[in-house]
Amino acid sequence: MSKTIVYVCDRKGCGKTPAQTTRITSNTGAYKVDLCAEHSKDAVEGATRQKRRAKRGPRTPTTTVGSAGTAVDGV
Ligand SMILES: [Zn+2]
Repeated sequence: MSKTIVYVCDRKGCGKTPAQTTRITSNTGAYKVDLCAEHSKDAVEGATRQKRRAKRGPRTPTTTVGSAGTAVDGV
């Protein structure tokens, strides 16, 4: 007997079969949320697409970036 897991949109009151799992990273942590096509579109509205990091190549120093407007204590 096998179980079938059905994922539905996590937006309250929606319950549609989600098109995809959306990852959200904020200064409070990283989240995964299942969203239908419509809500997925809403979630990324106004967002900037992040470029994928190259797997190889010289490692460049990374800068810790807080949320917008948050100063990062340094040196
Ligand atoms: Zn939805």
